[in-house]
Amino acid sequence: MSVVGFVGLGNMGRPMARNLRRADFEVVVFDVDTDVSAAFADEFGGTVAVGPADFAPAEIVVTMLPDGKVVADAILEADGGIASGLVAGAVVVDMSSSNPLDTRKLGDALAERGIGLVDAPVSGGIAGADSGELTLMVGGDDAAAIERVRPVLEVLGGRIVLTGPLGSGHAMKALNNFCGAASYAATAEALAIGQRFGLSAEVMLAVLNTSTGRSFNTEVVFAHEVVTGRYGTNFALPLLAKDVGIAASLAESSGLETPVVGLVAQRWAQARDALGPARDHSEAHKAWWDVVLTSPAAAGSAADGG
Ligand code: NAD
Repeated sequence: MSVVGFVGLGNMGRPMARNLRRADFEVVVFDVDTDVSAAFADEFGGTVAVGPADFAPAEIVVTMLPDGKVVADAILEADGGIASGLVAGAVVVDMSSSNPLDTRKLGDALAERGIGLVDAPVSGGIAGADSGELTLMVGGDDAAAIERVRPVLEVLGGRIVLTGPLGSGHAMKALNNFCGAASYAATAEALAIGQRFGLSAEVMLAVLNTSTGRSFNTEVVFAHEVVTGRYGTNFALPLLAKDVGIAASLAESSGLETPVVGLVAQRWAQARDALGPARDHSEAHKAWWDVVLTSPAAAGSAADGG
């Protein structure tokens, strides 16, 4: 089996790299938090990289990092960059939600070293990462490189969508998350306004979820994370704020009149700044109004461990 480098063992990366181990890939793992990489190797096997040279056996390197700047730093800069340890012909697959403009720059820098780049960001959250059923949005200029990494993508994803040239997967991901963030913001506004009028969040969600206002946010995020007071999607607020910011920068470069994306990006940036970096994205409404959306009954049973 070929050797796969895996960089970034956080909420998403850890179960993804574990699935590669379960599919019998050899892995060389690295996380800036060395305890995290050591714990991974203890539990699932694989080699922990201490420097770029340790990635030499890897024909494919997957990155699952916070953003494209961190990816570029890890691949090109830190300790000489992982790319400096790779053989010509290797392919980097950036599965992080990165800015497509950064992706194209990274692609040019890697091409000069004979290394390929494919962008393959994901949707499906922690549950999809765990089950290996993520949707993958795969962009790349080199069809042969995409085919070479396909066996890895097939372990991690349940649906592989070829989106077009390099960066198109990252553009698609940012635009998807803009839609999700907009629907969260609209649902939160509806619930807050409704509550001021005397409607409960539970009653409103029961109606929304069988009506045209229904969405992933009403069905999953609000019904299971907000009203219950659990706030545990494990998708951090700054990551979603980053994604909507990327969508807003793409909107600007499109030259179209698109006021909604700018406003949604502003709302999420405000929530990130007010609540801080460690909060779950489902908590964003707390930054916008002092309106409690947790149902008293659900809060009671959550406190009881229910
Ligand atoms: P995370 O913060 O849980 O994990 C990021 C990991 O990268 C951490 O373990 C961190 O220590 C490590 N790291 C940071 N800088 C590093 C560096 N320079 N070198 C090596 N390791 C480094 O984030 P996550 O939730 O796993 O998200 C990863 C990416 O996937 C993000 O781009 C995010 O937007 C995207 N994403 C997340 C979700 C989700 O539900 N969490 C869903 C889809 C996409």
